[in-house]
Parts: sequence; C-alpha cells; structure tokens
Amino acid sequence: MNPSLKLVPLLLFAMTVTANCQNSNEITDPEKTEIWEPQPPVVEPGHYSTEPPPDATILFDGTSLDHWEKLNGGDVEWELGDGYMTVKPGTGDIRTRQDFRDVQLHVEWRAPEVIEGEGQGRGNSGIFLQERYEVQVLDNWENPTYSNGMNGSIYKQHIPLANPAKRPGEWQSYKIYYKAPRFDDNGDVKRPARFTVVLNGILIQNNVEVFGRTVYIGAPEYDAHGPAGIRLQDHGDLVSFRNIWVRELDSELMDTQGIWRDPPGEDE
Ligand code: MG
Repeated sequence: MNPSLKLVPLLLFAMTVTANCQNSNEITDPEKTEIWEPQPPVVEPGHYSTEPPPDATILFDGTSLDHWEKLNGGDVEWELGDGYMTVKPGTGDIRTRQDFRDVQLHVEWRAPEVIEGEGQGRGNSGIFLQERYEVQVLDNWENPTYSNGMNGSIYKQHIPLANPAKRPGEWQSYKIYYKAPRFDDNGDVKRPARFTVVLNGILIQNNVEVFGRTVYIGAPEYDAHGPAGIRLQDHGDLVSFRNIWVRELDSELMDTQGIWRDPPGEDE
C-alpha cells in the first residue's frame, strides 16, 4: 500500500474529531446565549383582575389536577395543596390534556417563601405555550440573573420591559396573550408566534416575535406543529400554581387582523 494511503483513515479520524469539537464548542456552552445588559427596571406591581370571564375554560381551580397529565401521558404527581398545586421535583413537567392554538391565558404562581439557591436556581419554573415556547417563571426579587432568562423573559429570546417582581411567598399573576405560529404545507414558518405578557399588572412583553422553540443551548428553531398543550415546568424548585384559566381565541378572526380589507361597495 502506498504509505500515504495509510494516513487516510487517521486523517479522516482527525477531521471527524475536529469537526465534533467545533460543533460541541458551538452548542455546549449555554452562556453564549445569556444576555446580562440591559437589566429591566424594578417597578411596583400594578392592579389587576384574576377573575375568569364567563367563557373561559378553567384549567385549574385548586381542587383537582384532572385537566393535567405528565408529558408521557401519566397522571400528574405534583402536590395538590389547599387551592394550589406545587411542583414535586423530579416528577417532570406537566401539560394540559387539551391542546390549544391562539389563547388568552391567566396563571398565578408563587416562589417558595424560604429562599433557596440563587440566579436561575431560585424559584425556577416556566409556562410553555404549545409545549415549546417558554415564558420564564423565576423568583427575581433581588435576585439578579441574565436578563433574557429572568422572570417574564421569553426565555433566551426577549428581555422583559420591567421587573415587577413580588416577594417570595407572594402570589404573582401572569396574563399571556399568545398567537400561535402559522406554517405552510412544506412545514416552513409562514408567520412566527407572538407574545404579549402582563406580569402583576405591568406590561412586560409587547407583541414580540418568537424565533423558535425555547432552547437552553444554541439558537432557537421552529419545527412545524399543530395545536398542543400548555406545559408547566419542573425545574426542581417548589414553585406553586393556582387559578389557571384560558380563553381560546378565534384563529380565523386573528388571521384577518393586520390585513386591510376593502369594505363592500353600495351595490354589492
Ligand atoms: Mg424555567
């Protein structure tokens, strides 16, 4: 054999290792997508209503976990307290049995009164729309972290406009207005998802565009999907939830918004 040919497998091996290393450098470092500046201003919470409108679907009224299941379909193992549920660490995320598209969603939550951990390790949970796009839940009372991962961020995509955090142990209120992404027949994004979010009566996300499925490492991407559940995160912290309700929005009507339509003429 030509001696130089003997080197070919070695060379291929070296190229593979180099490629893998380059790849892993790109994708294994979560800090590459953490943005610390600017930090949103701390503001006082505002006033807000928590009452479900008459046409809302009640997803959790504090008495039963019937509307929820584990991601693999089994029964939820989170603790059901007196009017609330609490993450049972290690039992996994949960999601609604019902699937949704465009929604108006109300969720109340609280971080444990006894502070444990710091940064992302303190009162961390999350509300995922269509099981993919996370509105971060985090105890950000005097607890700095990267601002695109703080409470009210669209995790690692959009920094919230303000930090109206309440103290640990106090109930906080999310109002989430969500427009699902639209995909064409090839599975390509026709229109990305959008969020408007109000936390404790304060606007913190204003009709922001979602760049893809929430990821901890690397850049977000879309995968085409249909209606899907609302998912709550088990991040290992004893975060509690109560009073969860949703209004399904009329997707056909939503698709007419932002499009000018000529009104019918007199003879039509
Ligand atoms: Mg989270």
